[in-house]
Amino acid sequence: MKVTEHFKNAKDTLFSFEILPPLKGQTLKGLFDHIDPLMEFKPPFIDVTYHREEYVYKQRENGLLEKRSTRKRPGTVGICAAIQNHYKVDTVPHLICGGFSKEETENALIDMHFLGIDNVLALRGDCVKSESRFVPEPDGHHYASDLVKQIDDMNKGRYLDEEQIDCCNTDFCVGVAGYPEKHFEAPNARADLRWLKKKVDLGAKYIVTQMFFDNKKYFDFVANCREIGIDVPILPGLKPITTKSQLTLLPSLFHLEIPDELASALEACKDNKAAAELGINWAVQQSKELMLAGVPCLHFYSMGKSDSVRKIAEQLF
Ligand code: FAD
Repeated sequence: MKVTEHFKNAKDTLFSFEILPPLKGQTLKGLFDHIDPLMEFKPPFIDVTYHREEYVYKQRENGLLEKRSTRKRPGTVGICAAIQNHYKVDTVPHLICGGFSKEETENALIDMHFLGIDNVLALRGDCVKSESRFVPEPDGHHYASDLVKQIDDMNKGRYLDEEQIDCCNTDFCVGVAGYPEKHFEAPNARADLRWLKKKVDLGAKYIVTQMFFDNKKYFDFVANCREIGIDVPILPGLKPITTKSQLTLLPSLFHLEIPDELASALEACKDNKAAAELGINWAVQQSKELMLAGVPCLHFYSMGKSDSVRKIAEQLF
C-alpha cells in the first residue's frame, strides 16, 4: 500500500522508522533482531537506506596503491522485499542518483515493481567520500527532482527509449527529502524551498525531513512550504541522541544545530548512558509537541539501534 494511503486511513499519528542495510557479509537475522522490538508499535511502513560505493586503497605486492570501489551496505531492494514478506508491512527503499545511470535506475525500479514495492524515497545522495562535490554518472541524474521525473514518467508508462506503453505503467508513491535547517549546498533557505517545490511539482507525494532538535525549525519550515504552495504531508524526521560525541558529530555530518539547552545538558552528562537517557527524554518531548500539532507520522532514524527508539515509542504509542 502507498505511504499516502496509510496517512489517509490513519486515525492517529503513525510511527515509522528507517533502517540501514547490514554490513556486507552479515545476515538478515541481525536486521530482524533490530526490527522485532519495534513491530509492536505497528509501523505501517519501514524505510531502508541506500549506500553508494566508497573508494578504498589496497596496497599491491609492488608497494603501489590500487584504488578500488566497494559497497559496504548493499542490498536495499532485496532487504525491502524480505521485510515485506516476513512482517507483511510496506517498505520504502531509498533510491539515489549517485552511482546510477538512468538505465540502471529504470532497472532498479522495475525490480521494485516486480517485488510488490509500492513506495520509493527519491534522493540525490551525497558525494563519494573522496570527492568534494556531487558528480553524477555520465548518463545519470544531477538532482533528486530529475529522479522524481523519471519515476513519474514510469508511472505514466513512459520508459527510457520506448514509446509510451499504456499497459505497463508502475504506480510508485514517491517521497523526497526536505531540510528545515536548509540543505548545506543551497545558497539560501528560499532557493532550497523552490527546489523542494520542484520535486513536488514533478510528482513527489510526501516529504520526510532531515533530523532536527528544535521543533520551531520544523514548524517554520512547514509554514514556509505551505506559503509557497507545497501542500503534501511533511513527516518530521527524529533522531534520539545516544552518545556524548554526537554533540559535535551530528552538526558536522548533518549540518544542523543542537539547541543550547540540549547541548549544555549533553555536555554535563557523565557518560553515554546518561546521554542516551537525555536523548530519549528530549525526543519524547519533541514527539509529544509534534503529535499535538497533528503531524501525520513520526519518522525515526534508528541508525541500526532500536533501544532508544523503542523506549521513546513506549511512551507515545
Ligand atoms: P536534491 O533535492 O537534489 O538537492 C541537492 C541540493 O541541490 C540542494 O542544495 C538543493 O537546494 C539543490 N538543488 C536541487 N535542485 C536544483 C536545481 N535544479 N538547480 C540547482 N540546485 C538545485 N543519502 C543517501 O546516500 N542514502 C540514503 O538512503 C539517504 N536517505 C536520506 C533520507 C532523508 C529523509 C534525508 C533528509 C536525507 C537522506 N540522504 C540519503 C541524504 C541526501 O542524499 C543528501 O542530503 C543529499 O546531499 C541531498 O539529497 P536530496 O535528495 O535532498 O537532493
